[in-house]
Amino acid sequence: MSQSRAWLEIDLTKVKHNVEEIRKLIPSSSKIMAIVKANAYGHGDVECAKELCKCGVDFFGVSSVDEALNLRNAGIIEPILILGYTPPIHFHYIVEQNLTQALISYEYAKKANEWCKANGVYMHGHVKVDTGMSRIGIITQENEYHIDEVKSIYKMSNLKVDGIFSHFSVSDGLDEDNKAYTQKQIVMFNRVLDDLKKAEINPGVKHLQNSYGILNYPKLEYDYVRPGLLFMGATSDDQIETITHPNFIPIMQLKANVSMVKTIQPNVCVSYGRHFTSKKTTKVATVSIGYADGYPRNVSNKGAQVLIHGKRATIIGNICMDQLMVDVTDIENVQEGDIVTLFGKDGNEILPIDEVSRLAETINNETFCFISGRVPRIYK
Ligand SMILES: *Cc1c(COP(=O)(O)O)cnc(C)c1O
Repeated sequence: MSQSRAWLEIDLTKVKHNVEEIRKLIPSSSKIMAIVKANAYGHGDVECAKELCKCGVDFFGVSSVDEALNLRNAGIIEPILILGYTPPIHFHYIVEQNLTQALISYEYAKKANEWCKANGVYMHGHVKVDTGMSRIGIITQENEYHIDEVKSIYKMSNLKVDGIFSHFSVSDGLDEDNKAYTQKQIVMFNRVLDDLKKAEINPGVKHLQNSYGILNYPKLEYDYVRPGLLFMGATSDDQIETITHPNFIPIMQLKANVSMVKTIQPNVCVSYGRHFTSKKTTKVATVSIGYADGYPRNVSNKGAQVLIHGKRATIIGNICMDQLMVDVTDIENVQEGDIVTLFGKDGNEILPIDEVSRLAETINNETFCFISGRVPRIYK
């Protein structure tokens, strides 16, 4: 497949290392629920889930029922939590495939329970409480606290409520204000757990931390942590400070081929819009990848680089849909068929995805997810 015009190399052999790095951080009583939503951020949900199973991961999180069914169809038998909304017309899949649904509001849980009653079935669910994100979940914040709704959900006859969770909004923020906000989320989550205990309700498994929650609040002791990025060996942005600094290894590299090399004279324009004009005789390599492959167009004309022959070369002119051009004047012997690294490693040179994301004014999460379906995934 390295004959493809562009491809992703995904090294699954490093997943185990990354999982062990996570395990070193968290209490021995906490387990990992791996979040493999959005095709594991483009890394391949089935491939990652199978590898994670081998590493002893025994719970998965996805964003939708379709993603959950994809895992089930591939033979993943572990519990799968659907973190987001499932339209009621799809409730039957949850029951048939033994999935676990996030119970995102009291009304939603009631609807699920009534549907189950009408059909004589039971549904697994984890209650989602909103401790500060204000997205989905029952509001359990300081100024509005709907504990009665949470308790009622646990009592619904046809729901098997075997867990409860919440989600951090600024666990990556280490300034005082953001740390205090996160602390408040922890306090509110614990208050919910205390109130359930007082009411003699078994909350089931408890989970709160995403990747930055693990890195910055590793000592929290809930039953599961919910990393996505970390098992992929990444964070959102390598310039964000964290409390702990585990040694994660990125598992994804984006590669493409040189399709043509030409030498242009001074004062020659390159690409759409004529945003680059050569000042001197310049050797230009055209690379067979573009924004339709998910390489971000908005890094054009910002000095973004790629690796060729283990050296850095700068992208010149606008990035096109299927192609882009780089200045290879200072790299010897570049030829058609040479491998170009858009992010990853070539020889001793590393070009982190963080560099691309920063120029694209986004976070690695988005850069990963935008690598399009037409880019073949090659697994090691
Ligand atoms: C996406 C998501 C995660 C994982 O986030 P990362 O930052 O990739 O670790 C965890 N929990 C929920 C509810 C999510 O939506």
